[in-house]
Amino acid sequence: MRGLTQFFQRVRTYSDMAMSSIRPIVISGPSGSGKSTLLQRLFKDYQGCFEFSVSHTTRQPRPGEEDGKDYYFTDREKFEKMMAEGGFLEHAQFSGNRYGTSKMAVEKVQKSGKICILDVEINGVKNIKQTDFNARYIFVQPPSIEALEARLRGRGTETEESLKKRLDSVQEAMDYAKVPGAYDHIIVNDNLDIAYEKFKGILSAEIHGVMCDQYKKGM
Ligand code: ADP
Ligand code: 5GP
Repeated sequence: MRGLTQFFQRVRTYSDMAMSSIRPIVISGPSGSGKSTLLQRLFKDYQGCFEFSVSHTTRQPRPGEEDGKDYYFTDREKFEKMMAEGGFLEHAQFSGNRYGTSKMAVEKVQKSGKICILDVEINGVKNIKQTDFNARYIFVQPPSIEALEARLRGRGTETEESLKKRLDSVQEAMDYAKVPGAYDHIIVNDNLDIAYEKFKGILSAEIHGVMCDQYKKGM
């Protein structure tokens, strides 16, 4: 009898896993809208549940950023070689640099069994939608463009030139977010705690689902 109960429990666990079908999460939003801040909190609170797909970029590392953790920092020549070899799921030019999600990065997360999270700009979103990557799309919206500029300045990572380039792309990203169906969820990041609660709510199936429970128990 106990064996039968265990058998059905196991069947239920596998069907729950199939139902949760761990769709990857694509997070997007203007530079400075708070994507990294929300993700850092999530990864800290739910270790072992989510994993970041580490992108390649040709931009220079910021102080504190680690190669292989925040990005794979590379040069234009190597990036373009990878492009030619079909190594990217998607890639785009942003603010004078190249960014791309390698197939290898996504496969690495998928093999881990964790929920894959990607942080990409608007063209990345559009390009991923052309693939069979069955993702959920979340847009992180700043409360206003003025607040966004103040946050970007406050972050202290940009020169006047790179700040301007980043701000130039904001309106396009905001307009695309208004297109019906562009995103599954929009989070307005005004108060960080409220935005984070909304983010967790969107991911509640994953957070409370069997996949996270298993990792929480260290299985
Ligand atoms: P992104 O990853 O989207 O480029 P960041 O997460 O780096 O943006 O956030 C940009 C800056 O804004 C950072 O200095 C961060 O600490 C700050 N920030 C993020 N969310 C908020 C918020 N809700 N209120 C005030 N400052 C914020
Ligand atoms: P940052 O230089 O601030 O880290 O990132 C700049 C922009 O590039 C952000 O909007 C971020 O979402 C986007 N980005 C980061 N990685 C990728 C990627 O692999 N592909 C695409 N298309 N955009 C990315």
